[in-house]
Amino acid sequence: MVDSVVVVGGGTAGWMTATYLNAAFGDRVTVTVVESKNVPALGVGEATFSTIRHFFNYLGLNEQEWMLECHATYKLAVRFEDWNKPGDTFYHPFERNRVVDGFPLTDWWVQKKPTERFDKDSFLIASMCDAQSSPRYLDNSLFDGTFERGEEHRTTLTEQNTQFPYAYHFDAALLAKFLTRYGVERGVQHVLDDVVDVVLDDQGVIDHVRTREHGDVHGDFFVDCTGFRSLLVHQTLKEPFISFQDHLPNDSAVALRVPVDMAERGIRPATTATAKDAGWIWTIPLFERLGTGYVYASEYATPEEAERTLREFLGPVADNATANHIRMRIGRSERAWVKNCVAIGLSNGFVEPLESTGIFIIQNGIEQLVKNFPVGREETDVHLRDTYNRHAAHVMDGLREFMVLHWYASGRADNRYWKDTKTRALPDGLAERLEQWKVKLPDQDSIYPHYHGFESYSYRAIILGMGGLPVQPLPVLGKLDSTAADREFQLVADQAAALVEKLPSQYEYFAHLHGLP
Ligand code: FAD
Repeated sequence: MVDSVVVVGGGTAGWMTATYLNAAFGDRVTVTVVESKNVPALGVGEATFSTIRHFFNYLGLNEQEWMLECHATYKLAVRFEDWNKPGDTFYHPFERNRVVDGFPLTDWWVQKKPTERFDKDSFLIASMCDAQSSPRYLDNSLFDGTFERGEEHRTTLTEQNTQFPYAYHFDAALLAKFLTRYGVERGVQHVLDDVVDVVLDDQGVIDHVRTREHGDVHGDFFVDCTGFRSLLVHQTLKEPFISFQDHLPNDSAVALRVPVDMAERGIRPATTATAKDAGWIWTIPLFERLGTGYVYASEYATPEEAERTLREFLGPVADNATANHIRMRIGRSERAWVKNCVAIGLSNGFVEPLESTGIFIIQNGIEQLVKNFPVGREETDVHLRDTYNRHAAHVMDGLREFMVLHWYASGRADNRYWKDTKTRALPDGLAERLEQWKVKLPDQDSIYPHYHGFESYSYRAIILGMGGLPVQPLPVLGKLDSTAADREFQLVADQAAALVEKLPSQYEYFAHLHGLP
């Protein structure tokens, strides 16, 4: 039987895993987190995507309560700046496409082009982001009540049938603290100590971990949440790592936490990704500060150059902020789950921060672990493990493909970094799909065929926004009556204008929640 789980690592992955297992199994499974006092958690990872609400919902957490404590804000989209050409902007929103006469509105947009902005013509959220609107009114009702359906159930990622319109930005350190308290109050054991050895039995299965000051910690099952170190799965169990570096060259980042006056600046409900000479800069607005950083490829910029670029971008507000330089390991474990240990979080793999997929990968790993929870008998567990590993690999490989699309489809080719993004090797299958998409924008049948968190509308948004792939109107649309499509574009414009007029700004909403005048 598997009655006890030891989670090694207390970053976002460690505490999300521990609290979720506790919420799933209660006192039927003992969960222990062993967390180093000396090795800090990464401390970045502050933007999410909209499926994260299933995690908080599963834990039964009240949104307003945890958001207040974690200085969180809403995120409705990713705003891309300068990816096509300097000064160009578009949003990738959490909003599925409307469908007119069987065709997504973005397909109609290529045919009709009511304005130059596919995002504003096709989605409500693009206008809401420009206006810095909150998705909730001051009485806390959501801007479209139909999205509230299904909230009463503890749903998971693969079961969700609506595209919820927002995700969150939050302070990662405050969230880890919040989840620690939540977990410990509900019975999660917490050992604050370094793991100095991982001890295997004679079958090569993990028997226990040895700590510096608290002796041996035994468990039936182990979760490796030790970040890029991957102490259990890579260092101890020697699972091979498959690098994605040939396809995704960004391997470094420099991050800053910048205090700003949000009352003056306002809070745009979007993560901004600004293209730069050797990568891109993220801007994440929290309630009292910006989380920001430059993700870059070390082949094209040194850490000093990257930090200088970031500071120039931010201006004097960042003068007193200390830079955190990070080396990223891009790729995935061949198998995430090996013997009696699964790697969740950066220990398993990472594609790169664009589109904020790190926490999604964690959430997916945890949900799949619960669905395939082992029984402790190898003849059964081998199948659960295989199912898990297949799913985990598909998620990572699908994300890799979606990320590569961003660079390949970008209109920029103005220096060596951006030129190289057009000639770098493509993951298997993508070249063929790209040819199809030039003729017919992606649909659910023509994108990466396994679950990886993104739907076809996201692919369409990226291709239209990035501007570098030649896209032509779908031939059949020229033969169809477009009256309904024209009406729908007008409806989007009218609804967006009405919403922007009625909704409070995101700053007003959070000032109200924080009890500020
Ligand atoms: P870490 O945060 O590194 O935690 C590792 C833990 O292991 C720590 O608690 C440490 O103390 C512990 N540990 C290590 N060794 C030992 C030991 N020997 N004994 C005991 N404990 C040990 N994701 C998103 O979803 N959105 C984003 O916007 C985003 N931005 C990112 C930007 C960058 C530059 C990077 C690199 C990542 C980003 N991510 C993002 C990913 C996200 O940061 C991670 O997925 C998330 O922080 C989880 O990290 P982790 O818990 O796996 O590892």
